[in-house]
Amino acid sequence: MKNKASLISLEQRNATRLRVLEHIRTKGAVSRIDIASALQTSPATVTAATADLIAAGLIKEIESEAISAPGKRGRPRVLLQLDAKSYIVAGLKVARQGISVILVDFEGSETASYKHPLEKPRMSPSEFVASIRSALDETCAQIGRSAKDLAGVSIGVAGLVDANRNFVYWSSSITERNIDFSNLLSRHVPCPAFMDNDANLVAKAEQLFGLGKGLKTFLVVTVEHGVGLGIVLDGQLYRGKRGCGAEFGHTKVQLDGALCQCGQRGCLEAYVGDYALIREMAVTGQINEAMTVADIHDRAQSGDQRAASVLSRAGQIFGLGVSNLINLFDPECIIVSGTQKSFEHLCTDKVLARIRSGVVNVDAALPEIKVHHWGDLMWAKGAAAYGIEQVSILKVRELIANTP
Ligand SMILES: [Zn+2]
Repeated sequence: MKNKASLISLEQRNATRLRVLEHIRTKGAVSRIDIASALQTSPATVTAATADLIAAGLIKEIESEAISAPGKRGRPRVLLQLDAKSYIVAGLKVARQGISVILVDFEGSETASYKHPLEKPRMSPSEFVASIRSALDETCAQIGRSAKDLAGVSIGVAGLVDANRNFVYWSSSITERNIDFSNLLSRHVPCPAFMDNDANLVAKAEQLFGLGKGLKTFLVVTVEHGVGLGIVLDGQLYRGKRGCGAEFGHTKVQLDGALCQCGQRGCLEAYVGDYALIREMAVTGQINEAMTVADIHDRAQSGDQRAASVLSRAGQIFGLGVSNLINLFDPECIIVSGTQKSFEHLCTDKVLARIRSGVVNVDAALPEIKVHHWGDLMWAKGAAAYGIEQVSILKVRELIANTP
């Protein structure tokens, strides 16, 4: 039995272990003395933390090229880097058309991926979990493994999610509201499972592997069926008190405006999300069921005025929303992340002019706005990034039990 004081000191040791692990992830390969200097802590503290992280299988030692004066033999330096092969983590994104799955090693490199088709876009909670399990089984089978071999599974869904307790207030993929998935997942998935809002997961991926690497404060806006936002403040993902902050897509841009899939009116995504654009085109009666935003772009380019005006309005509303984000957060950078190249209408000069005209006048440059085309696996990679972070925390926590 550990007393309160020793538990606090264990928590401090865990915080140090995680900071050291995070630093190694950012740097790739780094010596103990450089870690101590970067984190402004003592070499002895770093030595203890790295010994624990090696014992947990999270990092390993490698020998670097010797650095020495010409003509002299130097001693090889011992560096630390992530132990890539130590754990396999799965990232999943549940979308309307199917579940994308990626398996990654502990460094985030892909080992397998798979697209699991779904019969219907909205599922009951038990159908949802059963689909996740079969998507996982199919993907693990590709590399001759099973879901039991995974160190963790991370699931991204669109909607309002309390990631601390795997609780979904509402999702466009699920037929019921207010579902606690923690029990359902522990019964049907044989490894630790984590859920979060899909845009938060993309922000995590931008932070760990993408354009947000090394930035302290940045925003990630995702555009697909709906419009999502991930907020990173002082290096931490900000989720809000109930876990459902950052609902940029449901900020109101029009009083009593267009109907949103959330049930309310006038939401930004009811003008900017893919479904909103396709709905607007449907007014003309010139669309078929399989129409995509890329098709609307093609039509606009071939002179279809209706298509051009639908895209232009989406861009103006998007610009209005982004100017509000800059007024609220004043971030270093805004990253617009998407799977395909079908959001070029959101990055035009006219949209930039709309953003500029909405940002309060300050004699300083606007935050940089970057566009990141991830390809099809963006969401699953985002989920995997969060999975890696959560597995790191779990493995470090397990060290408490082994600490004298
Ligand atoms: Zn809404």
